[in-house]
Amino acid sequence: MRQDEQALRQTFVQIGRLMYDKGFICASDGNISARLGPDRLLITPSGLHKGLLEPEHMLIVNLDGQVVRGGYGRSAHLKPTSELPMHLEAYRQRPDIEAVVHAHPPITVALSIAGIPMAECLIPEAIVMLGIVPTTQYATPSSEENVRAIRDLIRNHDGLVLQRHGSLTVGDSPMQAFMRLESLEQNARIGFMLAQLGVRNPLPPGEVEKLLRQREQLGWSHPGERAEFCQVCGACHPTSQPHRPTLRASDAPPTLNQTDLRELVAQVVQKTLGS
Ligand SMILES: [Zn+2]
Repeated sequence: MRQDEQALRQTFVQIGRLMYDKGFICASDGNISARLGPDRLLITPSGLHKGLLEPEHMLIVNLDGQVVRGGYGRSAHLKPTSELPMHLEAYRQRPDIEAVVHAHPPITVALSIAGIPMAECLIPEAIVMLGIVPTTQYATPSSEENVRAIRDLIRNHDGLVLQRHGSLTVGDSPMQAFMRLESLEQNARIGFMLAQLGVRNPLPPGEVEKLLRQREQLGWSHPGERAEFCQVCGACHPTSQPHRPTLRASDAPPTLNQTDLRELVAQVVQKTLGS
């Protein structure tokens, strides 16, 4: 449910603090936005520390990125985040979302630099809550190139890793987009531990299928993601029954007719008695 403007401003303050306290941002990193109406977004300003936001810092922009109302009081000089074009692109591609959160979670960034993908089926909750999390091509932060890097991927995913840069998560509220960020970084932490242990042990496809049914029931699945789960995790059989592979004719064990069987028994008996 969409919050009113004052409540959203307070929510941004809370999420800014949470992101900072959890180590997902530092200095002036990170940004948050949410829909206020059909052509209005509330968005965080450029340059400020997001752990120290105040409600009057936020700006209102339209979907063309023009400032409709700046910060008020002593915050009138503030400009919207330099990542505004990325936020606008996410809303353009996803009419269903209400909020966007961008952060620089360090373990997620480290894994992307190390080339360890997060698009895997390792953790049950991550599959249900986030689905597949792809990594974009590297793009300069705050650039048009970065807008292009998220364009296709954000259409069918609720969380992206921005190569060498950070995360982009979306949701039906700022808190849901934040929780997806938190979940993404927690999964990265577990992935990092697994890398240290030298273990990569994905869930069996049948277990992934059960989780995908939960995800569908919660209304969080996206068109086309089944094919992606099939490709990435081997979960290729969306049925209500556990998958039992059917044998093709060429896979079936050879069978003997009665004549062949009698002949074989005779040969064995002869060899056994004769030896
Ligand atoms: Zn950034």
